[in-house]
Amino acid sequence: MPDSTSIGIVGAGLSGLVAATRLHESGHEVVVWEMRDRVGGRTWSPALGSNSLRLDLGAAWHWTAHTRVQDLAEELGIGRIPQHEPGTALYEPRAEQPVQRFPWPDTPPPSWRLQGGTQAMAEQLSAQLPDGAVQLRHRITQVQQTDHAVQVAVTGPSGPSSMTVDRLIVAVPPRLVAHTINFDPALPDSLTIAQRNTPTWMAASGKAVATFVDAFWRQQGIDGRVVSHAGPVAHWHDAVTADGRAALAGFLHPTGLQTLANEGEAALHAAIRDQLAHCFGDDAPAPTAIATSNWRTDAATTPPGEDPLHVEHPPAPPPVLTQPRWNGHLLWASAETATEHPGYLDGAIEAGERAAEQAMDATSIALNP
Ligand SMILES: Cc1cc2nc3c(=O)[nH]c(=O)nc-3n(C[C@H](O)[C@H](O)[C@H](O)COP(=O)(O)OP(=O)(O)OC[C@H]3O[C@@H](n4cnc5c(N)ncnc54)[C@H](O)[C@@H]3O)c2cc1C
Repeated sequence: MPDSTSIGIVGAGLSGLVAATRLHESGHEVVVWEMRDRVGGRTWSPALGSNSLRLDLGAAWHWTAHTRVQDLAEELGIGRIPQHEPGTALYEPRAEQPVQRFPWPDTPPPSWRLQGGTQAMAEQLSAQLPDGAVQLRHRITQVQQTDHAVQVAVTGPSGPSSMTVDRLIVAVPPRLVAHTINFDPALPDSLTIAQRNTPTWMAASGKAVATFVDAFWRQQGIDGRVVSHAGPVAHWHDAVTADGRAALAGFLHPTGLQTLANEGEAALHAAIRDQLAHCFGDDAPAPTAIATSNWRTDAATTPPGEDPLHVEHPPAPPPVLTQPRWNGHLLWASAETATEHPGYLDGAIEAGERAAEQAMDATSIALNP
């Protein structure tokens, strides 16, 4: 890798990789620095169980209005799986009370998952970039304006180094940017305050996935949806794959997050097994494998020691979050900066495409010093 390249991108989540792909397609040289040892960011679909089922421990669904996800999945040849919704669901009021069946009250808006999990989008985008364009385990700590360029301080497996790029796209959640990356000269207060006040969508949550020998719940007419006030999982959903491999996926209840924090992963997995036996009956097949995630304590999502600022739905971003800086040399992506569907996968694609256009658009230069 030469020590100067035209466009640098911080973060190999969906927004960063969409930006990198669009710029590469237009003939620009790109380098993407990613602090984790994998691409995908908040899309994470690790292989689980003996048949290596890829299940979503981060983002999973998209809806009818999320046309950018549909288009990107089609462009990449990734199949979409309609979400199986229950006719009959289960309600678990408390761990010591009987579980109740209830008819699922209304028809939820249709949603889809992606075959192989949502991380497949990032993996395929990354695979299409030139060798060496995505640098895993490389963290950006400092960004400095220089004459007609941007210099970044990178900490990688072989130690610290610095790189100069013509333009830089920061594809990191704004709140994480404000807490973990230094800018020289400092960014305007209005931008830093807006970044700090922008919740990172779903950063307060954790998920659980479990595989089974078969989808016994479908055969028993009770479907895969469980609503629990007891935990450790608050909502279970059917996550059976297109080829019929059986799984459930759910969001952790506060009691589950607490078990994870106080007693660790093994205790949480034991509690999940107990919950599944309570909900589906002691005779129901036990899970063959379980995996969990906690985005609240993930330092590449939530600033260490900071509250993740939980919100029901991500707010529309103030314009200050998307304006190019440093004469158009410093640009912003990340789902939270999207105008449509901010915080969602669709928003990540919008933000990545917008940042790529801004990087290619000479008119953005000099408008916003
Ligand atoms: C549990 C959960 C469930 C979700 N469910 C859904 C859903 O069902 N549908 C939906 O549409 N959306 C969902 N989302 C949101 C969705 O995951 C995000 O919108 C999307 O993945 C964000 O992509 P991004 O590129 O903007 O950010 P991220 O995915 O956060 O990517 C940012 C990347 O930057 C890297 N990074 C951070 N700091 C640095 C640094 N200093 N140097 C180098 N690299 C750095 C990070 O490691 C990360 O890879 C969910 C999210 C979570 C956590």
